[in-house]
Amino acid sequence: MILIDTHTHLYSEEFKNDRDEMIQRALDQNVKQFFVPAIDTTYFEAMMNVKKRFPEVVHLMMGLHPCSVKPESYQTELDFVLNELQTGNYVAVGEIGVDLFWDKSTLEIQQEAFQKQIQWSKQFNLPINIHCRDAFAETFEVLEKERGNLSGIFHCFTGTIDDAHQAIDLGLKLGIGGVVTFKNGKIDQFLNEIPLEHLVLETDSPYLAPAPYRGKRNESSYVNLVAQKLAEVYKLSVEEIAQQTTNNALEVFKKSVIS
Ligand SMILES: [Zn+2]
Repeated sequence: MILIDTHTHLYSEEFKNDRDEMIQRALDQNVKQFFVPAIDTTYFEAMMNVKKRFPEVVHLMMGLHPCSVKPESYQTELDFVLNELQTGNYVAVGEIGVDLFWDKSTLEIQQEAFQKQIQWSKQFNLPINIHCRDAFAETFEVLEKERGNLSGIFHCFTGTIDDAHQAIDLGLKLGIGGVVTFKNGKIDQFLNEIPLEHLVLETDSPYLAPAPYRGKRNESSYVNLVAQKLAEVYKLSVEEIAQQTTNNALEVFKKSVIS
């Protein structure tokens, strides 16, 4: 059985004391590939270090996170993203999107940065990894403008079934993580109406740990708990969930190979 964590912040400070052990734990529990989203330039060095240490299993994305879109710096940050994308070292543009939970005042420039980065993803023939928090309408507004030739993942999907259908219709897969195990997470109630071919697994670690670790530090080995929950929801074996979602993830990140 092979599982893939399609969204994990392996470079996070939270792992500074036991990063190698944490990654080894995941590898030992069938989580064989890690897709790592960028945030902004302040995390760049740490991100590169993880890639250097685990070059075979860690795959990097490049992008400017919506929470790091600030009036005084976003142009410079976007220049950096474009420069990095030109190196060809990345498997996706992400994480990008709209977040109105932390800051509503930057909506306009968040949408501008999001759209520009979607256009770059098309230019470089890369999938996107979307972050959306309290901003489904605003995120879809941009995605609809860029409809056509889109591919990627709606990371940590927490929307309604209508949002799910719209995302799929745009050509996107839904990233399912710890939220599906939450009692009030809601998405588990309609997920079985969504064909499994549209789902990929993720942790978003160190955030959003699945039950029974909710509120604690999340880590990539917990992809297993997400797979187990989906096995319940879809009434399939964990192996079947793993096989289908791993195939889906590899389809999205075509460039990466798995052995
Ligand atoms: Zn993330």
